[in-house]
Amino acid sequence: MLGAIEAGGTKFVCAVGDEFGNIFDRIQIPTTTPNETIPQVISFFQNHKIKAMGIGSFGPIDINANSPTYGNITSTPKQAWADYPFVKEIKKALSFSLPVGFNTDVNAAALGEVSFGAAKGLDSCLYITVGTGIGAGAIIHGNLLGGYSHPEMGHILLRRHPKDDFHGKCPIHKDCFEGLASGPAIEERWGDQGVNLFSKEEVWDLEGYYIAQALMQYILILSPKKIILGGGVMNQKQIFSSIYLYLEKLLNDYVSLPNFSEYIVSPGLGDRAGITGALLLAMHAYQEQSCKVGDGKNK
Ligand code: ZN
Repeated sequence: MLGAIEAGGTKFVCAVGDEFGNIFDRIQIPTTTPNETIPQVISFFQNHKIKAMGIGSFGPIDINANSPTYGNITSTPKQAWADYPFVKEIKKALSFSLPVGFNTDVNAAALGEVSFGAAKGLDSCLYITVGTGIGAGAIIHGNLLGGYSHPEMGHILLRRHPKDDFHGKCPIHKDCFEGLASGPAIEERWGDQGVNLFSKEEVWDLEGYYIAQALMQYILILSPKKIILGGGVMNQKQIFSSIYLYLEKLLNDYVSLPNFSEYIVSPGLGDRAGITGALLLAMHAYQEQSCKVGDGKNK
């Protein structure tokens, strides 16, 4: 039995399941403050015997295993969570010997999708969430893309629409991709939540204009074999046709790509991509710890 946490900006999903992505029990807890949210998370897992835990968290987070602040949420604008030692607190409450895998929510979702979802059978994919925030995780050559830390692809700079004078909603950069196209950006620019703007064509046209630009950068730099677009905003399926239209214009046949309707798709796992990926993070952590013990090193 494996434990999984998908820590998002608005809710935590906690689940127990197996390495095949089967989920046996799950709960959802609102993301408020660590003092309120984490005790509920802990009490859920205390009722289950788990062998390892996987956490896919909103970021930025420290995933560098050699860093003294490894396992922390770092400079998030969600002030109650800034510098929160996530992995340490989970281990302290459950067991110091519990293997814990820790990565971003979007990296977890990319892992879920490449293993069991829309990118199954491929060795590369890009998972992008457009919701409260914007982020992306990539699998390249079968592995999660990362270097010094994890990518933060939601904060790239885009060319502004000439008629868009919205100041931008990113608390760090104002008018980066997230600042121009996240759910809160839509709400502030148009004065209503996206779900209530369904019939306003210009809303989704502009959304497609920005998302297509971001996809162009990702395609030119990473050349992923599949692009998966999830998150609350992407439930407005009419955005896809706007993205296809703008992307075709931008790329101008420069690179050869599959048909966009097959290449740029919704998550195959629906809203289970992140939590399924977190189960896989747990499995990897379990295997890694078993190897280390087997080696007789790094105990
Ligand atoms: Zn930003």
